[in-house]
Amino acid sequence: MLFWVPVFAVIYTLLGAPICTNILLSGAALLMGIFMFLRRGASAELCGNLLTGAAWYVYTALAVLTGGLWAPAVFWFSTLPVLSVLLSGPRSGVFWTIWSAITVASFAAIEWLGWSLPIEVGPQGIFVIQTSGMAGLLMCIYLLVSVLKKMEFNARRELRDANTKLERQAATDGLTGIPNRHCFDGVLAREWSRHERSELPLSVAMIDADFFKAFNDEYGHLAGDECLRAVARAIRASVRRPSDFCARFGGEEFAVVLPNTDAEGAIRVAETICMHVRNAAIPHPRSGVSRFVTVSIGLATIVPSSDRTRQEFLHDVDMALYRAKESGRNQIVQLAGNSIQALNEL
Ligand code: GH3
Ligand code: MG
Ligand code: MG
Repeated sequence: MLFWVPVFAVIYTLLGAPICTNILLSGAALLMGIFMFLRRGASAELCGNLLTGAAWYVYTALAVLTGGLWAPAVFWFSTLPVLSVLLSGPRSGVFWTIWSAITVASFAAIEWLGWSLPIEVGPQGIFVIQTSGMAGLLMCIYLLVSVLKKMEFNARRELRDANTKLERQAATDGLTGIPNRHCFDGVLAREWSRHERSELPLSVAMIDADFFKAFNDEYGHLAGDECLRAVARAIRASVRRPSDFCARFGGEEFAVVLPNTDAEGAIRVAETICMHVRNAAIPHPRSGVSRFVTVSIGLATIVPSSDRTRQEFLHDVDMALYRAKESGRNQIVQLAGNSIQALNEL
């Protein structure tokens, strides 16, 4: 509806009826006030009625000033019932229909009685109309600017939210809800450079579910998925420090990055992971090492330097995991540099 305010303001101005323009603009000022009222939390029904009332004021004032019953503004009264039903519901629609009919009937009565319309407006009246018209004009401009600003603000926020969501989705593993391999690569690269500078020990663990193919064969892939979620939960519960990080590396393999953690500390975390997985007590009748699901863990600790690349270090961790599997599974194998440092049979 506010769209028509500037359109008709221009038409009336071109037709040489500045008072009508001013009435229109002061009506717009009223609408704006209501609009702001609504934004501050007033009920939609109340604001709808106020809005319809403002429209009624504009139509009536224009009809009075432009000839009464035969003024073009009289036809606009037919829009009031529709407007009020849309904004405030059927009850308001009934009220505004009756009220519009009474107003139009009043113009008919004035015509029938032979009273003269348009009404002469005195200098004071013109002053009031012009002042309110100016206020309306300023408010229309304010509305336009604020609506455009709000649109821009909303668009920016939606874009930012969508980007954040996308980034989160791209970094999260869909099955387990923990970070994925891509995210792991980024975190390891970042920690590697940080530890290279600080010369502190960095530990990484690779965790692999034992005899998981047999688990799938026994219970089906859906149960296998649920088991992977439980293992992910167990791992997540085992890494406590805010800087510790766990991810699904792929398939039934997980990885943990433990910043500023030496070999002993890393073993403790690995033991906690094994304990949590065991405590989950997921039955695995076809496991060769236990009645329940178990994991094997390969561990390595390093103070990053130019002697060894990140890929070579990851290969060490993988080697440790391979040894853990080879040595019977359900155990932790730790590698430092190139040699096996500790072998924990669980
Ligand atoms: P090992 O003890 O030597 O690790 O034996 P394994 O059976 O666990 O290892 P293998 O590599 O032979 O098999 C891995 C299995 O993990 C095969 C695959 O079906 C299963 N797997 C990988 N990703 C998923 C997954 O997302 N969901 C389910 N349900 N199973 C998966
Ligand atoms: Mg496995
Ligand atoms: Mg595997």
